[in-house]
Amino acid sequence: MSDNEYAQRQLTKVLTRIEQAALQAGRAPDDITLIGAAKQQPLLTLGHYIDAGLKHVGENYVQEAVAAQQALASKTASWHYIGQLQSNKTALVAQQFDWVHSVDRYKIAQRLSQQRISQHQLSQQRPDRTPLNVLIQVDIDDEPSKGGVPVSQLMELCQQIADLPNLALRGFMVLPKAREGIEQQRQPFAKTRDLLGSANLAYGLAMDTLSMGMSGDLEAAVLEGSTMVRIGTDLFGPRQPN
Ligand SMILES: *Cc1c(COP(=O)(O)O)cnc(C)c1O
Repeated sequence: MSDNEYAQRQLTKVLTRIEQAALQAGRAPDDITLIGAAKQQPLLTLGHYIDAGLKHVGENYVQEAVAAQQALASKTASWHYIGQLQSNKTALVAQQFDWVHSVDRYKIAQRLSQQRISQHQLSQQRPDRTPLNVLIQVDIDDEPSKGGVPVSQLMELCQQIADLPNLALRGFMVLPKAREGIEQQRQPFAKTRDLLGSANLAYGLAMDTLSMGMSGDLEAAVLEGSTMVRIGTDLFGPRQPN
């Protein structure tokens, strides 16, 4: 089997899982976007997946992402920053990405907003890149080491970010801890969905995106309303050691 055929087969497998979970939930499969979480995968591999029809790429490391974007510049894909975000990396992220899933502090959001506009002014040929779509990462299981805003501070952060120019606040992202069994896995996703509804209601927002679900809990996430799943291992295979 060629690399292209393998990519095609893997992509079909994951899209079928999404479709089946969507049907079980009574949802339209098209409402769920597949993001290929490409960390520690060779560029060549990623290229094959984009050729096979992968439209959204998720990156955790800014430098690795910029190299991938340059190497794959001839191909069309949307780029999602899904890693932890330090303030000294916000300029590159504001310039190079279409989505950021991991905003968890106001200071980071402010920098992204400022740096998105200066990029826009510098580069009038890419007016389509404004505004930057952002998601707030919520620390849904109280595990601060993974990043994410504590649930107790989420509402205030929503209100602050919604007011920033050059950003479109689209919703929430979560990275729950691993749980056994689909019923257990659904709980943090259900809680996140409820928080999104509450924030929309409280502040008159129209957030429409829930970035929830990875290889091990894709089905549970789709059953609870996920609109973006971030899949690494079950799409690309095991990660290469760094
Ligand atoms: C690596 C990663 C994923 C994908 O994880 P898999 O279990 O390999 O599917 C999803 N989201 C984030 C933020 C990641 O870092």
